[in-house]
Amino acid sequence: MRVAVVGGGAVGVTAAHDLADAGVDVRLYERAEALGDERRRPRERVEGSSHRAAGVLAPRPTDAAAARIAERAMDRFAWLAERDHRFTFEPAPNVTLVAEGEDAKQTALGEQVAAAREQGVDVDCYDAGTVAERFDSLETDGIGLAAVTERAGYVTPGPGTYVAAMAIRAERLGVELWTDVEASISHEGDGPRVNGERFDAVVVAAGGWSKRVLAPTGVRLPLKPYRVQALVSEASYDGPMVLDTEAGVYFRPHPDGLLAGDGTVPEECDPDGWSPTGDGWFADTATDAVEKRTGLTVESETAWGGIATATPDGEPLLGEVLPGLYVGTGWHGHGFVRAPATGEALADTVLGERAPPAAYDPERFDGMPEFEISEGMSL
Ligand SMILES: Cc1cc2nc3c(=O)[nH]c(=O)nc-3n(C[C@H](O)[C@H](O)[C@H](O)COP(=O)(O)OP(=O)(O)OC[C@H]3O[C@@H](n4cnc5c(N)ncnc54)[C@H](O)[C@@H]3O)c2cc1C
Repeated sequence: MRVAVVGGGAVGVTAAHDLADAGVDVRLYERAEALGDERRRPRERVEGSSHRAAGVLAPRPTDAAAARIAERAMDRFAWLAERDHRFTFEPAPNVTLVAEGEDAKQTALGEQVAAAREQGVDVDCYDAGTVAERFDSLETDGIGLAAVTERAGYVTPGPGTYVAAMAIRAERLGVELWTDVEASISHEGDGPRVNGERFDAVVVAAGGWSKRVLAPTGVRLPLKPYRVQALVSEASYDGPMVLDTEAGVYFRPHPDGLLAGDGTVPEECDPDGWSPTGDGWFADTATDAVEKRTGLTVESETAWGGIATATPDGEPLLGEVLPGLYVGTGWHGHGFVRAPATGEALADTVLGERAPPAAYDPERFDGMPEFEISEGMSL
């Protein structure tokens, strides 16, 4: 069996690795010149999201399918970190904060935590005082409810290290890594082709470019790329990872100080036409929010943008779209934390070993529904 994987981000390298591990002949196409890197902060350029992610690994699944994906992904991150010096996973609990008076958000958080606990996730709700006692680096004034997810953490020095480590492993298993090659896909009834060459199967893991990559085959994906942002400050912070839902900002420790993010711009963008530099409004909002919660003086040293991908119902698009042609995208800003498991699910789907979750079926919508982009971090 010969399979082409289009896109060398976290999802694509995992799928390519797993297919090769099962004995498949695999070629990976990536239009950038390299797969992964060991950078702490991304370059100022348009590139794949896996090089620009905040590297927060904090799953809180609310159904069985999502729980299996989350657990498997965390197990694989831990497995890789034990074996590959390029990739380091720092365990840290993740705290979600909801302000007093935000009754609807408190109810939503309580329901999410209850659903996650039913799936076996180690997460619970606490009042502000209990959280302040456990984490003395956090100011919890005005907080009505908090949730703490225990099995969480972040990637150091940056998320590109996962891609680099998996690409090297994939190459050792025989995957042909074709970097600096833009893949163009066609499907002429007999099966999928990449740049005119016929493969038994083609996996499109091209992140925010997936809709564009599939368009020549007639497949129309209900997918909108949109911009999100992150920044690094040299303010020294060694507390837990935090999502402050009032400010719409998350932050975590970083080798240079701290990393803060979100900065969602909920508008569809051209995957090649966005600003890789962070916006001033985002840096101001994020640094203010972190100062309020930590008491530190926080200045943005580097701020950047990148793309996330939205679908009409917030669930991914993962599965077969034409005979032999597969896609995996639509992660709503949570694509990195799930990549070891979604890449694996793509590989298993191609191999016919299991069907992906029904809720991820890329053909579950009637036609091309109109939809607004909903923030991946919202409750
Ligand atoms: C600022 C920011 C912070 C984020 N923080 C987090 C986080 O903390 N946790 C989390 O889970 N997620 C986070 N995300 C989201 C996460 O980065 C993505 O969901 C995830 O990296 C997507 O991985 P992917 O492999 O699907 O896509 P990508 O990493 O985008 O890879 C797709 C690849 O396809 C390539 N490509 C495109 N077209 C072609 C073509 N025609 N031929 C060949 N190659 C092609 C691209 O160059 C790219 O390398 C964040 C995103 C951003 C921008």
